[in-house]
Amino acid sequence: MPRHSYTLACLVFVLLFARSLEAVAASGEGPTPFNVDKGLDMAGLTPHLALLEDPTQSLRFEEVSSAEFADRFKSTAGQSPNFGFSESAWWVRFTLKNTTAEDLAVTLRQDYPLIDHLTLWEPLADGSWKRHATGDRLSFYSRDVEHRDYLFPLELPAYASRTYYMRFSSDGSMNIGLSLYAPESLLERIGKEQLAYGAYYGGFLVLVIYNFFMFIAVRDRTFAHYLLYVTSYGLYMAVHNGLTFQFLWPNFPWFANHSLLILLILSLLGALQFARSILVTQQIAPRTDFAARVLEWLMLISLACTPFFTYHTMIVPISLLTFVIAAQLLLMGVLALMAGSRPARYYMTAWTALLIGVLAYMLKTFGLLPHNVLTQNGFQIGSLTEMVLLSLALSSRVNELQRKTYTDALTGLFNRRHFDDKFATEFHRAQQSKQPLTLLVIDIDCFKQFNDTYGHNVGDHALKEVARILAKGVRKPNCPCRYGGEEFAVILPNTDHDAAMSLANRLRVKVEEETESGYKLSISVGVASMAHDEFDCPNKLFERADYALYTAKQQGRNRVIDYRSCAPRRESEMSKNALIGAES
Ligand code: GH3
Ligand code: MG
Ligand code: MG
Repeated sequence: MPRHSYTLACLVFVLLFARSLEAVAASGEGPTPFNVDKGLDMAGLTPHLALLEDPTQSLRFEEVSSAEFADRFKSTAGQSPNFGFSESAWWVRFTLKNTTAEDLAVTLRQDYPLIDHLTLWEPLADGSWKRHATGDRLSFYSRDVEHRDYLFPLELPAYASRTYYMRFSSDGSMNIGLSLYAPESLLERIGKEQLAYGAYYGGFLVLVIYNFFMFIAVRDRTFAHYLLYVTSYGLYMAVHNGLTFQFLWPNFPWFANHSLLILLILSLLGALQFARSILVTQQIAPRTDFAARVLEWLMLISLACTPFFTYHTMIVPISLLTFVIAAQLLLMGVLALMAGSRPARYYMTAWTALLIGVLAYMLKTFGLLPHNVLTQNGFQIGSLTEMVLLSLALSSRVNELQRKTYTDALTGLFNRRHFDDKFATEFHRAQQSKQPLTLLVIDIDCFKQFNDTYGHNVGDHALKEVARILAKGVRKPNCPCRYGGEEFAVILPNTDHDAAMSLANRLRVKVEEETESGYKLSISVGVASMAHDEFDCPNKLFERADYALYTAKQQGRNRVIDYRSCAPRRESEMSKNALIGAES
């Protein structure tokens, strides 16, 4: 389940919200100033923040910063201030104290980039305030530093103690994640982060490009559905990281805010459509498929609604639908798995990978798993693994489609098309490597009469039975093919004449023995080998084996005849037949 990531995240926020409210209520005295010295690397400011909720969003900075309001701010008591969806504006106050005799430069970072309005009031030496107003409702270029997160470079004169105010308001999740960096540490940190993001989104890009070319080559619609899914999901994740706003639509704050919902809906739509086509649910579970189609329509309606409603209005029903769709996607996978679909195995493994990632992330959030690279990036690792596995599901589907074009529907053996391809390939390989190549052409004896006696249904059954005996008797990689009607052919690369003769005889005896108790069947086999003569085309070799078969029939059937032991044939007849073979 992919997009439920958002809903699960919301759940986490709600739980944290309750905890932080408790913390705010419990805290007595105000937080301590944060001491900045030369040893500063990176430090979270959470324990040093004081918060003030403004439920009506009506307070002005002049009021909030006045002495009258000083006591209304409450400490966070170390809990991270994530408030889920909040109608309130949140005021934040903190004090930085330079404990050294030098002026210091530091950078303040807010690490959740989807805040609508974010304002910082920075006290200046002359007692005035410098206002930094930004947020993703404004152009990306409203930021002090062009970075996916909000960065504010600050100057702290020697021994100065400065109190800063910030105001947060947002239609979406209210996550206040403030930290302070020394400029060099920030540089190092951002370098590593960008590499990690590059690897993650690079993975997505490779999947998109690879599957796009596969789509062009194979023209199978399932690839288009996968592309819709992987592209919108990758972009959805990038919206969360603030990367799309920075690099794709920095001047379109309206779209930056709506893109989250639009991409969430598109990726749900893509996931449903992809699951329907790769699992062929219309055939294996028509009612579940119908439910999936209803959900798709709901998604399309939601998509049409997004421009007219606020994020706030939309996200609750969409989050609920995300849960329903996640369950639906799993149900479809389970049903397909039970129906024996091969792509369903990859599909289910893919969802499991994502689920493990999400679970690891959640357990980490609740302190049940250690905080490390794997758990911290559980979502990311899980989702990329999922996408890779779904891409494998696609290849497995292509293989299955290909296998179908090479398989005879009645007997399950390879068909004539495969025989022609394989025979030509093996012929040229044998020619080049001077290795022997032998061909068996097999025909069921008096099969017309068999059909006339027992009827075509029993005839079909007998064909399957012979096919089964041939398949069992021929060792891989050699494989019997149904050439047409009641005729079969076996290509035997690197097999000399004697080995081929004994195999042919074994097969003949097997058919005779295994059908003895029921309706009796027998086969005649013609054998021709490349070791004895040079041929310029595969048809000539086939023609000889076929002539040997014809001789076997003439000599009374139920026997194996080698081409060399046949009476010589007139050359004119041979080349005429070869020509017919070449045309067909
Ligand atoms: P011979 O021993 O000379 O090969 O005699 P034959 O009757 O087997 O030869 P012929 O080629 O005249 O007849 C082949 C018969 O195989 C004709 C057709 O009824 C039957 N046949 C071909 N394909 C199928 C099939 O898919 N199912 C069934 N039931 N019969 C088939
Ligand atoms: Mg026959
Ligand atoms: Mg025949």
